[in-house]
Amino acid sequence: MSFGMMTMKSMKTCSGKIEQLRGKIENTDTIVIGAGAGLSTSAGFTYSGERFQKYFNDFIEKYHFRNMYEGGFYPFDSLEEHWAYWSRYIYINRYMDAPKPVYENLYELVKEKDYFVLTTNVDHCFQKAGFAKERLFYTQGDYGLFQCQTPCKPYTYENEAQVKRMIEEQKDMRIPTELIPKCPICGKPMSMNLRADSTFVQDEGWDIHAGYYEKFLDTHKKSKILFLELGVGYNTPAIIKYPFWQMTARNRSTEYICINKGEVSVPMDIKARSLGIDADIYSVVKELVKV
Ligand SMILES: [Zn+2]
Repeated sequence: MSFGMMTMKSMKTCSGKIEQLRGKIENTDTIVIGAGAGLSTSAGFTYSGERFQKYFNDFIEKYHFRNMYEGGFYPFDSLEEHWAYWSRYIYINRYMDAPKPVYENLYELVKEKDYFVLTTNVDHCFQKAGFAKERLFYTQGDYGLFQCQTPCKPYTYENEAQVKRMIEEQKDMRIPTELIPKCPICGKPMSMNLRADSTFVQDEGWDIHAGYYEKFLDTHKKSKILFLELGVGYNTPAIIKYPFWQMTARNRSTEYICINKGEVSVPMDIKARSLGIDADIYSVVKELVKV
């Protein structure tokens, strides 16, 4: 078989699967979306290459970082430099719009349904695209929130105004000292509200949304649910992937869909009620919203 023929065949298989998925979505009232990093990558939120070079050229020249994450973990000598880096990181990934409308298209697909979204993404894209806040559970934090680094209290603080000032006023890869964010309670430096270690603050909002998710699952425990897993890899499979497999196995009226480029797997025991699509999520969703 020639390479050309194989490509034709795989394209045909993929569009067949997209049609199958269209049918499944039309026939289901209840959808639980589980979204991982791959979904934001397909929206154009890439952390290396051109986008990284555009906003971090000076840091790349000085430290030879290969991607945004490397700089995010780097122990800078001063907080002025740390926040010069992090304010750009937050701004482009949280306050700028995603280059491709995959979240908006996804919202079009499910907005008339009884849906819920469980996500490990911290870029706020679901809310920006119109998804209802009470139908979201963001488990790993949000780029838009600071917390006390200790933390002295389990509170989080919105950071938009502070981040914008840090962007505007930084010079030679440093923010002015007076802009270093400090905890309003104990005065210690703030850190990002991202689950990186045991200091992560699960604030009241986190608990409330965890409760919404639990209640949603409880209310629908006998319903026909479509579990739609998007771009979930194997960094934290215990949050979305494994529970989706287990819930699909337990309730025989449910179905499991996995869309992820290069990383699709479906366990044998739920295979008959599953569909794996090894493709770019943006192209699949764009196809699905076409009328
Ligand atoms: Zn504090």
